[in-house]
Amino acid sequence: MLENTPYYHAVGKEIDVFNHAYQNKIPFLLKGPTGTGKSRFVEFMAYQLKKKIITISCHEETSSTDLIGRFIIKGAETVWIDGPLTTAVKEGAIIYLDEVAEARPDVIVAIHSLTDHRRELFIDKLGETVKAHENFMLVASFNPGYQRGFKELKPSTRQRFIAVSFDYPEPKIEIEILIKETQVEPEIAKKLVSIGNKIRNLTELGLTETVSTRLLIDAAKIIHSGLPKRLSVHVAIVEPLSDDLQTVQALKDLCDLMI
Ligand code: ADP
Repeated sequence: MLENTPYYHAVGKEIDVFNHAYQNKIPFLLKGPTGTGKSRFVEFMAYQLKKKIITISCHEETSSTDLIGRFIIKGAETVWIDGPLTTAVKEGAIIYLDEVAEARPDVIVAIHSLTDHRRELFIDKLGETVKAHENFMLVASFNPGYQRGFKELKPSTRQRFIAVSFDYPEPKIEIEILIKETQVEPEIAKKLVSIGNKIRNLTELGLTETVSTRLLIDAAKIIHSGLPKRLSVHVAIVEPLSDDLQTVQALKDLCDLMI
């Protein structure tokens, strides 16, 4: 359990929606690009609801065994170790499957029975079915990333969740977030958010990912700790976005005019 309230600035009705999903035992899906506050929001909600949260960052090798559990050899014995999903199901915690679409398909199969009226987990290696604790909640995030190589979530899976879209906050809120997270001067926060929005609108650059709130926060942090502003923007915002020399130069020139 976290000791201090995680800072989260609501951008819409997501707090109410999450509370209702929890009360009604409906799984919750956060959709949106990276760095838009999805993980922070889930940490915040877990804190508000006084619940333990177990986070799994899914990737292409994440399998149902990683989540459900496995036998390990201990001396002369073979013992069963619950995986994080089984632990959450038994203890009534929140399991947060970050980037769930990236996981292997058997993960999706494994969570299906937890996402409908059954609310149970089948542990095939033990031949056992575990009923979920009444306070168990399944939360997942997914990055729709339309034009990119990101994996999709099947409609049959998506329709088991209540879903909320996350996007970059409007400037006023994003400025507040930057100030609160980094103590940077308001003037600088304003300029960084303008840079972020300018680059977000440059769709012709064909960037695979655009400037996230996270990148702006990193820039604000290093400016606040004393690195020169232009250099900070180059290394925290421009360089992580692209490896194409021309694009990088064009973005640096643009940022130099704005900071
Ligand atoms: P995601 O899980 O969507 O990739 P994160 O939750 O890790 O993104 O957010 C990245 C960072 O951006 C966080 O560490 C936090 O500093 C900041 N952030 C983004 N949105 C918010 C918000 N609404 N309130 C507070 N902080 C935010």
